[in-house]
Amino acid sequence: MQPRHETITLEELRFDNSFTRELPADQETVNRRRQVHAACFSRVQPLKVPMPQLLTCSPETAALLNLPKEECNRDIFTQVFSGNTLLPGMDPHATCYGGHQFGNWAGQLGDGRAINLGEVLNLSGERYMLQLKGAGPTPYSRNADGLAVLRSSLREFLCSEAMHHLGIPTTRALSLILTGDPVERDMFYDGHPKEEPGAVICRVAPNFIRFGNFEIFAARNDLATLQQLTNYTINTFFPHLGTPGRNSYIALFREACRSTAKLMVEWLRVGFVHGVMNTDNMSILGLTIDYGPYGWLEGYDPAWTPNTTDAAGRRYCYGRQGQIAHWNLAKLANALYPLVGETAPFEEILQDYSRIFDQHRQEMMAAKLGLRNLSSTGDEAMVEELFLLLIEKETDMTIFFRALGEVAEILLEDECSVEECRALLHPAWYQPEELGPEYMQRLAAWLAVYRERLRADAGERGERRMRMHRVNPKYVFRNYLAQQAIDQAEAGNYEPISELLDLLRRPYDEQPGREHFAARRPEWARNRPGSSMLSCSS
Ligand code: AMP
Ligand code: MG
Repeated sequence: MQPRHETITLEELRFDNSFTRELPADQETVNRRRQVHAACFSRVQPLKVPMPQLLTCSPETAALLNLPKEECNRDIFTQVFSGNTLLPGMDPHATCYGGHQFGNWAGQLGDGRAINLGEVLNLSGERYMLQLKGAGPTPYSRNADGLAVLRSSLREFLCSEAMHHLGIPTTRALSLILTGDPVERDMFYDGHPKEEPGAVICRVAPNFIRFGNFEIFAARNDLATLQQLTNYTINTFFPHLGTPGRNSYIALFREACRSTAKLMVEWLRVGFVHGVMNTDNMSILGLTIDYGPYGWLEGYDPAWTPNTTDAAGRRYCYGRQGQIAHWNLAKLANALYPLVGETAPFEEILQDYSRIFDQHRQEMMAAKLGLRNLSSTGDEAMVEELFLLLIEKETDMTIFFRALGEVAEILLEDECSVEECRALLHPAWYQPEELGPEYMQRLAAWLAVYRERLRADAGERGERRMRMHRVNPKYVFRNYLAQQAIDQAEAGNYEPISELLDLLRRPYDEQPGREHFAARRPEWARNRPGSSMLSCSS
């Protein structure tokens, strides 16, 4: 279908609620916390809030719904996306899912503070679920309040849009709204709760179906509902897999493995660490979903995790994300298995995941280095030595690879010296004065190998740098930038949110005058909560 650029008003949004129409609903209608059986969702109303105030919206996400930017400035927009008003055709509900958290089956989780408002069919025929996060309790809220605070909502809003502009599959964010109600949070679970401003974001994605949505029915041996959900998923989002049945169930799993493998490599490419890769935070569409205690690598370190809850085990650290996704996919396989009754096809596809992941990772590394492929003898050793160098002396991953585009250019000039390369890479080192002669020798040796490799790889002058700059972003949503925007917003200054949203719209462009946003993390932020340590509290 052709994309259509006409615009409509909020009132003209066309809702087509396939999820609630085609899947079994919870028969109980009282909104109280409980186990919900034999149902994919519970209908529930968003909480009304006293003083909603729109802080920002994403015009690109609005455009997915054919809404022009001006629609976001209407009072009704704020009323709808704070949860105060429903548009005709909306059918608010929370979905039932389970999940493995930190390696253990956690039973029923579900949308504890997410309320799906309804599915929009845009003018191009694309389906988008609108979902409020932080709009009050649902039957799945367990012992929590169903609310969200400004801090975590701002982080999710900006990061999901940043990921999109980096070209990485993700759920989107439409709006960020203050509710006017304070919310109590114990940010570090240390007995010091504090009141924080409450906020609601509206997230947008074709669907928010997680691995855990399938797992819950398999765990309860509710095969009828499991099959209904799987059939629905195939018919609605994977129609090319054919009619639901043995083959398409297996094909669905294959697609989930492929899209997830790709996603993991994309995270590695830009230094993104999700932080809570539980199976309830894994999208069946292979989207980045549920931005909580995520973080961005500063100094390159495969063992780094932003999540304080994960600090001891480092289950979800940067370098393990590919493996963890594989583990999570095995849980999805277990959930789909009863519909197929054979393990062999799942095992085969899971093995294939590792092959696809490795292949994508290799292609990604080649692209980051400005090479067409990594296949010559010695390439593996070259990449390995590079990462050892990055680990040896704290080196900012983003700055390093961005500068490498320039380094690659000058390396091909005969008279270039290691000193020139060093000067280009200088901003990437956290303690450049402590590199020492031995390290410099190793770096020089690596550069010599890299230069030979570049020479063997055909390419025109300048063209390689352009290619490299398209995969090595200049601007990422650095942890401390998020924290600065939060500090400002909590003090009533929302300007930095708009500035960051604008900056992160063009992460691969130089953007003269904004270089300070691409600088190394300042020392004050090294151990500052929110900048380097985050909890799940949100
Ligand atoms: P997460 O680790 O953020 O993905 O959340 C795991 C589960 O906890 C999900 O079922 C969430 O809906 C639920 N949850 C997280 N925070 C809250 C909250 N403030 N109120 C209700 N449920 C929550
Ligand atoms: Mg979650």
